[in-house]
Amino acid sequence: MRSNVRIAAPVVRSALQYVQRRNFSVSQGRQAQWGFIGLGQMGYNMARNLQAKLPSSDTLRVYDINAESLERFANETKALSSGAAVEVATNSRDAAENSETTITVLPEPSHVKNVFSQILKPPLSEKVVANPERLFIDCSTIDPASSRSVANAVHTTQQGRFVDAPMSGGVVGATAGTLTFMLGAPDHMLARIEPILLMMGKKALHCGPQGAGLSGKLANNYLLAINNIATAEAMNLGIKWGLDAKTLGNLINISTGKCWPSEINNPVQGVVEGAPASRDYSGGFGLSLMKKDLGLAMLAAEEAGARLELGARAGEVYAAAEQQDDCKGRDFSVVYRYLTRA
Ligand code: NAD
Repeated sequence: MRSNVRIAAPVVRSALQYVQRRNFSVSQGRQAQWGFIGLGQMGYNMARNLQAKLPSSDTLRVYDINAESLERFANETKALSSGAAVEVATNSRDAAENSETTITVLPEPSHVKNVFSQILKPPLSEKVVANPERLFIDCSTIDPASSRSVANAVHTTQQGRFVDAPMSGGVVGATAGTLTFMLGAPDHMLARIEPILLMMGKKALHCGPQGAGLSGKLANNYLLAINNIATAEAMNLGIKWGLDAKTLGNLINISTGKCWPSEINNPVQGVVEGAPASRDYSGGFGLSLMKKDLGLAMLAAEEAGARLELGARAGEVYAAAEQQDDCKGRDFSVVYRYLTRA
């Protein structure tokens, strides 16, 4: 991890280091130092919103293994005259060590476990040991069991509190600051966490104790995975029977089949203006992310002993669609293209 940053360092060091140095003061009872790890499609935009909304006395220490993302973030925030000061951390631990609050937005369970194994590794500075109230908010979509094991590691070593806050709203929501967060945290922490999430989103739904945010998120995305394929099949069926695509879409959307994939993300070109289907399925929610979330939901279902009849077949459909060159890497509604030629 360090090596990526080091390779880029001679070129970007001036931009990366202490991008907006301002006076840093910790007021009593107020969070002043923030860590942000994972500046990908979601995290980058979330961190931009957070930086903009924090007071100028605060500092945001960012880290990503991708030096290009760090450089871009540093350069884009350099010119800003408002919001928190930005510092580029040299690794995850460096981003989190002195931060009262650290937000992680990482791809998969292995990345979250890896980052936290570095953050929690002894020896710890006295400041960390003395601050069991450090807050970690993990916004990654991972399985609840992995999330609970990371939370357990944080709590048992008394290095802080770990909560899960996966989100929905996609890259558009992350950019606009309109995400919905599904929060898994004890009741007594809500007053501290919610205002933080609302700097990056519009809603924070408290789902229950730690891990419950992810359970809510995965239940929703399980339904979405199935609804998307069912919508593509129903549209294909109606069109093959001779119905006009737009007429069928309108019919479904005022009838009992209505769902998000039929109404907002209709998989057939021309039915919903601005949907990914109208731009060759570019942008939107990637096929591989849908497949990943479906897999996580099925794993969590197995652990809970919940019977799923449709999940395995849906997983096969997404995997088969991903094999096709003109479907791979596109919005998950591209399964319609796969179905029409299968
Ligand atoms: P992404 O792959 O674009 O970004 C992940 C970032 O994490 C990358 O920049 C990567 O370099 C960085 N990273 C990986 N390992 C790291 C490490 N060890 N240390 C530091 N940085 C590391 O993914 P994304 O689309 O931003 O999604 C992030 C999470 O949010 C995922 O769990 C995803 O399922 C979830 N999510 C995504 C969307 C979406 O529309 N993209 C919507 C809702 C939820």
